Amino acid sequence: MSIERINELRDILRRLSREYYELDAPSVSDQEYDRYMQELIELENQYPEAYDPESPTQKVGGKVLEGFNKVAHKEVMLSLGNAYNFEDLQAFDERVRNEVGNVEYVVECKIDGLAMSLIYDEGKLQMAVTRGDGTVGEDVTNNVLTIRSIPRTIDFKGPMELRGEVYMPKASFEHLNAIRRERGEDEFANPRNAAAGSIRQLDSRIAASRKLDAFWYTYVNAENDGMTTHEQCLERFAQLGFHCNEERRVCKTIQDAWDYIQEMTEKRNDLAFDIDGMVLKVNSLADQRRLGATIKTPKWAIAYKFPAEEVITKLHDIMITV
Ligand code: NAD
Repeated sequence: MSIERINELRDILRRLSREYYELDAPSVSDQEYDRYMQELIELENQYPEAYDPESPTQKVGGKVLEGFNKVAHKEVMLSLGNAYNFEDLQAFDERVRNEVGNVEYVVECKIDGLAMSLIYDEGKLQMAVTRGDGTVGEDVTNNVLTIRSIPRTIDFKGPMELRGEVYMPKASFEHLNAIRRERGEDEFANPRNAAAGSIRQLDSRIAASRKLDAFWYTYVNAENDGMTTHEQCLERFAQLGFHCNEERRVCKTIQDAWDYIQEMTEKRNDLAFDIDGMVLKVNSLADQRRLGATIKTPKWAIAYKFPAEEVITKLHDIMITV
């Protein structure tokens, strides 16, 4: 029975991933998708004989679309492990401390956009590549060049790869959907899907009209540039002219991280961009290296996902009904 459920869940998750990553048109909420995924992870743990390297639990979601040149990532682009409450974060913190001892965390917003890699050399932007399936992405340089906040040239001559999130600000999203409504076109479900749909347009004039933006948060091979902490990398990016989200905090304990998450849960609706959670990252790059990664997620970071806003929606419905 449970093996049947495992197969059923794998089929459901594959279908939902196709809708989300390939069609940019999800039919269920992220929370519902996450619930299926969580159920599958638990069943696969209970039934190790059902292990399958092709299972959605073992794969970084996403597929490379036709129409773009395919680019192999020099270093894989991973997903993130999930946490849903303080206990999950405490368990993560315990695993980290058992492995490397005392650490501090940088706690950042989890931007709801799509992951992007930028490659610079000789001070010039050479290529922008989507995460794709984590190993191979799509060359979307022409579309990314339409994002004004991304520097074409930087004051750094060596090769440099940085990663972050391209997103659609809430105001651009509202504007885009208003236009689509007027024209009788289908509206985008959310800014994340609108951003992904915009970046994967073959005509870059469409991407240009969508008013996208981006935040950068990963410096690949940062230690070659003398960096020792994640926070230093973010400061370096800002110095070079990249947008880094200022809304972040270095936390010395998991309790401090949780307090900041509570603050941000209150504040999230006031931000100009959508966030679907908060990401905790071990600050020391040497500790990150020691902790390493699984096939799908780094062991030095975790994403706390905000709970669904169903209660608020229900209250809102009641208020409207009343
Ligand atoms: P994820 O979105 O849960 O987390 C990983 C991603 O977070 C990274 O790849 C990066 O792009 C992003 N990110 C944003 N801010 C970041 C930051 N500050 N630091 C590091 N990374 C940051 O995982 P995923 O593998 O990209 O996607 C899976 C998720 O997508 C699911 O949990 C679900 O929420 C959603 N999804 C929904 C459906 C659906 O049908 N609704 C289908 C598939 C996936």
